[in-house]
Amino acid sequence: MVGGGPFGLAPGEWTDDTSMALCLGDALLPGHHASGGVGGPTWEPADVMRRFTAWYRDGSNSHSGKCFDIGATTAAALRRFEADPSSPVAGVAHPDQAGNGGLMRMAPVVAAYAHDADDGALLAVARESCRLTHGADEAVDGCAAYALLLKGALRGVPRGELLSSSYPPVAGGGAAGSPPPPPWAPAIAQVVGGATYRAAGRNGRGIRGTGYVVDSLEAALWAVWSATDYRDAVLRAANLGDDADTTAAIAGGLAGALWGEDGIPPAWRAQLAWADRIGQMGEELEGAAAARAAAAPAGLHPVLGDSHRRRTEETIDSVTG
Ligand SMILES: [Mg+2]
Repeated sequence: MVGGGPFGLAPGEWTDDTSMALCLGDALLPGHHASGGVGGPTWEPADVMRRFTAWYRDGSNSHSGKCFDIGATTAAALRRFEADPSSPVAGVAHPDQAGNGGLMRMAPVVAAYAHDADDGALLAVARESCRLTHGADEAVDGCAAYALLLKGALRGVPRGELLSSSYPPVAGGGAAGSPPPPPWAPAIAQVVGGATYRAAGRNGRGIRGTGYVVDSLEAALWAVWSATDYRDAVLRAANLGDDADTTAAIAGGLAGALWGEDGIPPAWRAQLAWADRIGQMGEELEGAAAARAAAAPAGLHPVLGDSHRRRTEETIDSVTG
């Protein structure tokens, strides 16, 4: 390696956020590389955890062939899964486990379900993908909120509408068939409502990009809200310091959906490690999302019960078969 950063990274090389996102993308598209891309995504928690573990132990899905950075909460969950492979949803629900490790890898999940008419399956998979390693309510709800925002951005909702406190899916006023207002953890509700990050102004007074999921989501939304373009959003996130790679990954996912591939500086795209593989995965996830929506009969995800919990579990059953 030629870089001088803390991990010896060269420009265009990436860290655990992207490695774990690639693992998720591979798990959502198990047959695509072989079959040329037909059919919708699949969701199998144990398959995801096996791929995370292969990265952790053997460096798969790392450009260097090594896992050179992993969060403590993630590593502990992967070790629990290794000890008991029958329990892939290995995150601990204690509030002090509310790190940003689920949030940082969320983009492929959203891409795979972005064409659904309703948000039920997206929310169920987003939440469970977080619980694989991070089970605290704030971590799980942060993922759900980000998933709704990223889906909106992918579907062309303008930034000013998306990052307002009244964006319907987040506020609970989505189209018929959409879930009721999610029972957001209070700190996440405050962030997605926007009072905190908009009050910080363009100079980001009080914004901190730490590993705590509430700080991390707030910082990423602030970076996108206050930016003039994709480059500005990612630099604003990274320059907060602290957990800079992860804040920038979360902000960059949303910024990429808003400003598009053409909005990414050409010099950055030219330097990106594994650019062909990442680009191909994006196209295959888009194809899987479209195939899933085309195959869905009307009312694929009906409201099945009174409680949000029950519907979520049944939706997971319908997703996983
Ligand atoms: Mg990080």
